[in-house]
This record gives sequence, C-alpha cells and structure tokens, in this order.
Amino acid sequence: MRQIWIAFVLLALSLISTAPARAQNKIEVVASFTILADLVRNVAGDRAQITTLIGPGGDAHVYTPSPADAKRIAAAKLVIVNGLGFEGWLPRLVKSSGSKATVIEASRGIKPLEAADSDHDHKDHNHGKAHTHDAPFDPHAWQSVANVKVYVGNIRDALAAADPDGAALYAANAADYLGKLDALDGEIRAAIAKIPAQRRKVISTHDAFSYFADAYGIAFIAPQGVSTDAEASARAVARIIKQIKAEAIPAVFIETITDPRLMRRIAAETGAKIGGALYSDSLTDENGEAPTYIAMVRHNIKALTSALGN
Ligand SMILES: [Zn+2]
Repeated sequence: MRQIWIAFVLLALSLISTAPARAQNKIEVVASFTILADLVRNVAGDRAQITTLIGPGGDAHVYTPSPADAKRIAAAKLVIVNGLGFEGWLPRLVKSSGSKATVIEASRGIKPLEAADSDHDHKDHNHGKAHTHDAPFDPHAWQSVANVKVYVGNIRDALAAADPDGAALYAANAADYLGKLDALDGEIRAAIAKIPAQRRKVISTHDAFSYFADAYGIAFIAPQGVSTDAEASARAVARIIKQIKAEAIPAVFIETITDPRLMRRIAAETGAKIGGALYSDSLTDENGEAPTYIAMVRHNIKALTSALGN
C-alpha cells in the first residue's frame, strides 16, 4: 500500500513539474509579417509561440502599429523582422513597448539590390496612395529562394541563442526545411527552363520581383504611363499596347487595371496573355492559394509559366 502511495506521489509530482516546464519552454517570438512567420514556424515547430504583427493581405510598408502590437513586442523574447527598411515603423515600436526582446533582421547577410525608383504597388495591398521605400535597398529579398535560405539560417541561430535547450531541434528542423527550399529552387529553374528565352518577360506593375528577376531570369518590365494608385485610362492602355508590340512581351500582370474590357482589349490587340495574381509581400490565410512561403512561390511560378509558356 505504502509503495502504491509513493508511486502515486511521484507520478503527481512529475505531472506538476512537467506541465509548467513545457509552458516555459515555449519561446515567445514575434514575426513582423506572414512570410517570416511561416519561416519561423518551419524552424521552431511547436517550441515557439509565434505572433504575426501584419496578417494576411496587410502592407508592411505603410503599417501603423497598434497598442496591442506594443504588448506583443513587450512579451516577446525574440522579434524577427525582414530589415532592409521594410519595417520602418519598428524601432519606435520596440522602444515605446519597453521590450527587452532581441531584434534580428532575417535578411542579414544577403546581397541587397538597390531599390527601384518608382512607386510600388501590389495586388494584395492596393494602398490607394503612392509611396516609396525610404531605404536605399529593395526589401523584397525573400523573392529569391537562395536569400530565404539565408533567412532560415539567421532564424535558426537566433532561436538557438534565445532558447539554447531547443538548439538541436531548431538545427534539425532548419536542415529539413532548407532541403525543401533547395527542391523549390530546382522546381523554379526547371519551370523557367521550359519557357523559350525570348519569352521570359512580363509587363507588370509589381516592383517587388527584382530579386526573383535577378535570380531566375524573368524580366519584369514596368508599364509606361500607368500610375499605381489609379485606374488606368484608355490612353494609358493604348500606350501599354504599343509597348507590348514594340518589345514583343508575351504576358501582362497588371492588377491595377480592374476593368476587364481594358484587359480584353490589350489581349485582343497584342495577343499577350493576361496573367493571374502574383503574391509578393503577404501570404493568404490557410484557405487561400498561398498559405505558406513554398505555396506562394509555387503559385507565382504557375501563374508566370502558364502565361509565358506556349
Ligand atoms: Zn512590397
């Protein structure tokens, strides 16, 4: 009887001691936007409690942090941001929150490209007003898979430094995910290799694909005379038609032309294909077509190759 009691007490003690320990082991991590949060999730697994400041469809460039964000930052042990001027609002937020979190820039160590001069707009955040990046570099480095491998290494190292007990797990998860990224990079290259070289160009209002263009050899040519913050006029469309013909551009990804008649006119007069949506700065929610980084890249590749292949 006594032995049973001892066993019971020992069991109870072990339950008491492991439950809080497990909760304590969860490291509080804040990621600035959805793409980073997905990378952190792949490296940290269940060991981190991940909070994303800017959710699906949000625009980090023009974000205004809320008091709730300050609370999230204050509670975090680790804050992971893109850097390269993407989150210009962040330093003030960290300061005002009084947070003691370590802040790391996931892009540290990549070779940055210079920022484009033009304004910048995306399908998933038509912010209604033109804006330029205030930093000299283009922040959209995640559009190259090789860069994302650098991000993953930085995230792994930051997690291990903040939570040394999890270091082995982070290393194993990162190695696994890096393998998936290598496969993804191969997929992109194989898909683009099937497109005839002279067809590897699109007209696009996206300024977010310089790293993609640089890594994979698809040119993103800005349409002439199309403002990013207003519906394109019939005159602007006439100029685009001229440009497509002159430069023999096979496909058009202009999401700011929302009038289907104008897009049909471009297609009819030039023979160019009208491409679907490209995701640049944000993932979709779980039910969307780009809920993870890998799904986002695959979606974009499919949109590009189906418009450019013949
Ligand atoms: Zn952007």
